[in-house]
Formats: sequence, C-alpha cells, structure tokens
Amino acid sequence: MSNSHLPEHIIRPEILALSAYHVPPAAGMIKLDAMENPYSLSPELRDEIAQLTANAPINRYPDASAAALKEKLRQTLAISDDIDILLGNGSDEIIQIIAMAVAKPGAVIIGVEPSFVMFRMIATFANIQYVGIPLTQDFSLNLDVMLAAIVKHKPAVIFLAYPNNPTGNLFDRAEILSIIQATSGIVIIDEAYQAFADASFINELDQFPNLLLMRTLSKSGLAGLRLGFLLGRSEWLIQLEKMRLPYNIGIMTQIIAEKVLHHTSVLSKQADAIKSERTKMSTFLATIDNIKVYPSKANFILFRIHAAAQIFQALKQHKILIKNLDGTHPLLENCLRVTIGTPDENSQFCSTLQTILSKTV
Ligand SMILES: *Cc1c(COP(=O)(O)O)cnc(C)c1O
Repeated sequence: MSNSHLPEHIIRPEILALSAYHVPPAAGMIKLDAMENPYSLSPELRDEIAQLTANAPINRYPDASAAALKEKLRQTLAISDDIDILLGNGSDEIIQIIAMAVAKPGAVIIGVEPSFVMFRMIATFANIQYVGIPLTQDFSLNLDVMLAAIVKHKPAVIFLAYPNNPTGNLFDRAEILSIIQATSGIVIIDEAYQAFADASFINELDQFPNLLLMRTLSKSGLAGLRLGFLLGRSEWLIQLEKMRLPYNIGIMTQIIAEKVLHHTSVLSKQADAIKSERTKMSTFLATIDNIKVYPSKANFILFRIHAAAQIFQALKQHKILIKNLDGTHPLLENCLRVTIGTPDENSQFCSTLQTILSKTV
C-alpha cells in the first residue's frame, strides 16, 4: 500500500478519533446490560409469527412506506390525524436522519450529560457540533445553563431522553416545557423507556410546533426487530422522510411488529412485571450499606457503590453482565447500571452481589 492510500489521509479526523460502540460478548451470561425485555412471546403468538414469516415474499422488496404497520401504530397509540409517523430501523436511525437533515455548517445539537451516548456519536458522524450540558448532582436538568446555552448556540436540535438513560429519572415537566418554548430549533423527546415510565409528552405534540417525540419497540420486547418511530407535525416529517432510505424497514420487521401490535396487552403485562421487579430490586439495593440507589422510571436501575469497577468484574466472573459506567462521565463515578431481568435473574444478581460484598469488605 502506498503512502497516499492510508486511511489517515482519507477518513475524516473526527471519525479516526472515535472508538467504535462496544458491545461486550454475552454468551453464557445472565444478560442485564442492555435494557432488553427478558420475556418472550407466548407459544401461540410465536406460532402465528412462524406462519407469517414462512409465507412472507422475501424475494420482493418490502412495502417502502410500511403503510399497514404505520396504520397499526396509529391505531394502537391513538395518534391524531394531524400527527405524522416516520419509521426508523431502530430509533438510532431516526437520530441519524435528524442529525443529517440539520447539519448545516455551524449548526449545533444540544443534549445533556450523562445521557444516551448515540446523540453525541451520531452528531459526530453527521459532522455537526454537539454541546452536552451537564446535569446536576441528582441528575436533574441544569435549567439556567440550558437556557443560556440555547441563547448562545441557537441549537437546531435539542435531544432529551424521558426517562433519561443511564440515570433512569424523568426530568421536570415544567422545565422541559420551558426549554421547548425557549428554543427556535426542534426538541426531540426520546421516550425509549415510555413502557415503564407512566409519563409522556404525547399529549403536548399538538400544542408545540417544534416538539417531536421518538419511541422504539426495542426496550419493550422487540429489540431484535429494530423498529423506532418519530411522531410530529407533517411540516417536519415531510422533510425528514426524504432522507429515510427507501426500504429501511424490512419485511420481517413489518409483519412481525404489526402482528405483535395486535397483542399489546402481552407487552404491557411484561412491562408491569418488570416494573414490579424494579421496585423489589431498588428496595433490596437500598438495604445494602454504601450503595446509593437512584430512583428509576425505566427498566434499569443506576446505583453507586464503592469500588464499582471491581464489583462489575466480580459479577462478570460469576457470569452476570451489567453495565459499568465508572469513568464514562464525572457524575457517574463508581456507578453501575443493571437492567431488570426475570425474577430468577434478578435474585441471582442480588444474591451474587451480596456474596461479593461480604468477601470484599
Ligand atoms: C436504547 C435507546 C435508544 C435506541 O433504541 P433503538 O430503537 O434500539 O435504536 C434510543 N434512545 C435511548 C435513550 C435509549 O436508551
């Protein structure tokens, strides 16, 4: 290879500087690291899905507009006619579409920190400046700093995850509303964890012309399908729709998601089970000395513990995989995040943690 063919000469420097999103191997582990729903669908529903997929015309391109699936989503969520839907191959793809659409020279995206890391990463992919405003010590919005940053940077987009990942909390509604009103850009409320939150901005969509709402089926049970969606006024979605790749939602995703949406009570019962396990886990963790548990409205719990990195490694040796956040942000020093699993997985996590702690003290 001659010197002129080096990637360093061709690839953008900000891409060379990135490290790839790391997904740790999890074979044989109790997997409590990625906010997946631990439950599967009923055998009857899986049989129906098997039939549907066996008969799917996979030699043909899928319906480019995924009209049937969109209609089913509209019914299921009771979305009013003046609100449009954009489908993404996961909500990650929707974040990417938004970032690419607004990436004028000098444009800025604002988010909070710590939050979902893909906001910053995708801004970098799209060559757009990302400004992360630190949360307060208790992971609330730093409203004054946010409002000042809005004046200073005139952001094209503000991303707010509601509940936030990895902290698990809901930001104050009134503060979010004042951010929506203060900015001349768009605000994306990312409701990836809505199934566990008992809170949403869906009823505010009609009220604010610059508000868009993003959701995903990943955390509520269909992570393998990759389906996210954006809700908002057509004046925005008509523009974003132009950037959606024609067949981004495959036929399997279209037919399976539509089928499962006929049985949303299955998913909501699973979400209820996860929420009640969340209460149990939080209560248990709070009983342990030297653990600080943060309140969660999502399907995971953030907690702070002495020597978090060693605890994480010890859990891993016991075949329990959670997420180590120590070192990812100053506010997350010694923080670990555990996804709520099945009752059996959760009690194995709890008892293993207790064993590890009794040995290390
Ligand atoms: C997991 C997550 C997503 C990504 O969801 P996909 O639809 O699987 O791409 C988006 N936002 C937040 C806050 C998340 O935690």
